[in-house]
Amino acid sequence: MTAPARSAVADLHLHSHHSDGLLSPAALMRLAAERGVGTAALTDHDTTEGCDEAAAACAAAGLRFVPGVEVSAGWDGLSLHVLGLGVDAASPALDAHLAEVRALRRERLAEIGDRLERRAGLPGRELVDGVCAGTAVPTRLHLARALVALGHARDEADAFKRFLGRGTPGHVPMAWPGIDRAIAALRAAGGVAVLAHPHRYGASGGALRRLVGAFRDAGGQGLEVSMAGMSPRDRDRLATLARGHRMLASTGSDFHDPALPWNPPGRFDKLPADLDHVAATL
Ligand code: AMP
Ligand code: MN
Ligand code: MN
Ligand code: MN
Repeated sequence: MTAPARSAVADLHLHSHHSDGLLSPAALMRLAAERGVGTAALTDHDTTEGCDEAAAACAAAGLRFVPGVEVSAGWDGLSLHVLGLGVDAASPALDAHLAEVRALRRERLAEIGDRLERRAGLPGRELVDGVCAGTAVPTRLHLARALVALGHARDEADAFKRFLGRGTPGHVPMAWPGIDRAIAALRAAGGVAVLAHPHRYGASGGALRRLVGAFRDAGGQGLEVSMAGMSPRDRDRLATLARGHRMLASTGSDFHDPALPWNPPGRFDKLPADLDHVAATL
């Protein structure tokens, strides 16, 4: 008897509770399997901590596992996210880079807490202390959830709009390590570097083309082209950029929270047939 064919759906962008996701790596991978995913990458922000647990859960559920990470990086004043796919989670070069970024995250959160205290009259320092006590990778999403829990915001999007996003009292401009360093660390760990959600940086036409060119020149190999909730126009734009720059294309949900119905694992459109899927190279 032959084994059933594995689903062709590759969700290469998933978060667990090791960063700002809510599920354990094992629960996350079981959910991905239930949702029809055939290949899954764990891509927590700035940590590979959950990869061993996720690998074991994937083996049990019949999924192909790709160890990954989503690294915070800077370029031309923008804060960007770079996915590393197929990384060696034990790589000392990657580990050192991620430790540096996590230290910057903690400094940033402390500064956000100060600003919320001074400018918005919120108990910012206490909120930040609570967040940092509970995670090795403190993100603004943790802080958004804490603001919602205390009744200062309606939901997470509201917390970003009023307290955490650009132009709000808690906004802190960041100087993350540049994309060249992020890409070098990922490649040193044997990973493929993919620019995450290029449509979400607020960069229009020319700026986005420059960004993708700089990303590729720094050794970046792929672009996220199809994601949950993306408009067909954005997908077409990103597919065109991937084609024009001869880059690999990736698919992913950016799943964090089972209570949010719009981006469950595996929900995104197929790539245009002429693009090369990064999953085929891993
Ligand atoms: P950070 O990496 O600390 O800047 O936190 C950003 C994280 O917050 C992202 O990875 C998303 O998961 C989440 N996020 C960003 N913007 C929003 C928003 N407007 N509403 C809800 N979540 C958001
Ligand atoms: Mn996140
Ligand atoms: Mn991201
Ligand atoms: Mn993400």
